[in-house]
Amino acid sequence: MTAAAFGVRNEPMARHTSLKVGGPADIFVRVASEADLRGAVAVAREHEIPVFMLGGGTNLLVSDKGIRGVVLENAWSEATAADGIVTAASGTPLAHVAAVAARNGILGLEWMATVPGTVGGAVHGNAGAFGSEIADVLVDAELMDLDGASWTAAPADLGFAYRTSALQGTPTIVLRARLRGTPGDRGTAVRRIKEIANERAAKQPLAQPNTGSIFRNPPGDFAGRLIEAAGLKGRALGKAMVSEKHANFIVNTGDASAADVRELMGLCQREVRDRFGVELVPEVEMVGEW
Ligand SMILES: Cc1cc2nc3c(=O)[nH]c(=O)nc-3n(C[C@H](O)[C@H](O)[C@H](O)COP(=O)(O)OP(=O)(O)OC[C@H]3O[C@@H](n4cnc5c(N)ncnc54)[C@H](O)[C@@H]3O)c2cc1C
Repeated sequence: MTAAAFGVRNEPMARHTSLKVGGPADIFVRVASEADLRGAVAVAREHEIPVFMLGGGTNLLVSDKGIRGVVLENAWSEATAADGIVTAASGTPLAHVAAVAARNGILGLEWMATVPGTVGGAVHGNAGAFGSEIADVLVDAELMDLDGASWTAAPADLGFAYRTSALQGTPTIVLRARLRGTPGDRGTAVRRIKEIANERAAKQPLAQPNTGSIFRNPPGDFAGRLIEAAGLKGRALGKAMVSEKHANFIVNTGDASAADVRELMGLCQREVRDRFGVELVPEVEMVGEW
């Protein structure tokens, strides 16, 4: 493949993020298999083009100037179950992993049904919900570097902590993950998925574009509680607004810019620091050229 035939030029990232914010990617390529992914990484390496791996775009604030280099959108979705373990390609939606587990009578992965995004993004950020997280269920992950070399890593190698892993800030790509549950009753898993989906829908502003929790919860407290107590629920800057429904969500009420969102995040951090002395740390990843 030549560089000229490689992907789409100047693709707006607002089309590929759940917040519907973000300027253009220089080059945008959708990969739908391991061969596609490896091939695209090889072309980027050959032409010395920086690579950004995009999963579901559900934990990102992409700058208005966009992303230099190539964005690889991971649509490689495949999941199989055997012996209480789901093996999933990194582009598999977490909800699909939960469904495959439930269908095969594997319990303990129901929480994934309500976390948007892909397996790769979830391993990268140690996603979690309802008292579980990736670090608790990961058997191992197959990783790849930008030279195409791949290897298998155990959870102990991945530096997992609350909503972080040692993969953050590195170019290492997650190819596959094996996720463990416990054998059980399929009906129990399906019922549990319905319960947590209802609980989510009641608490989160799922009808408006958002990017999940904006800040990590500080130890022993909740970012949403602090932002609400600072009187910021409903506060808007441009078309970015602190959700009326859940104060740790920023929603896009129109054509919000990344600058609007970033400023509103800064306002929340300042107000919470001034009033409560707590430093809010972003959970959302700021990417691109600022
Ligand atoms: C409504 C809503 C609710 C949410 N609720 C939760 C929740 O309960 N718990 C939670 O933890 N999160 C939650 N999130 C945030 C988000 O769903 C998770 O962080 C998710 O794991 C991000 O996955 P993604 O595929 O969308 O990653 P992206 O947002 O596309 O990318 C995030 C990071 O992961 C990297 N990445 C993506 N794929 C790969 C790969 N294959 N290899 C290496 N790196 C990769 C990207 O480069 C980027 O740095 C929520 C988001 C929304 C919109």
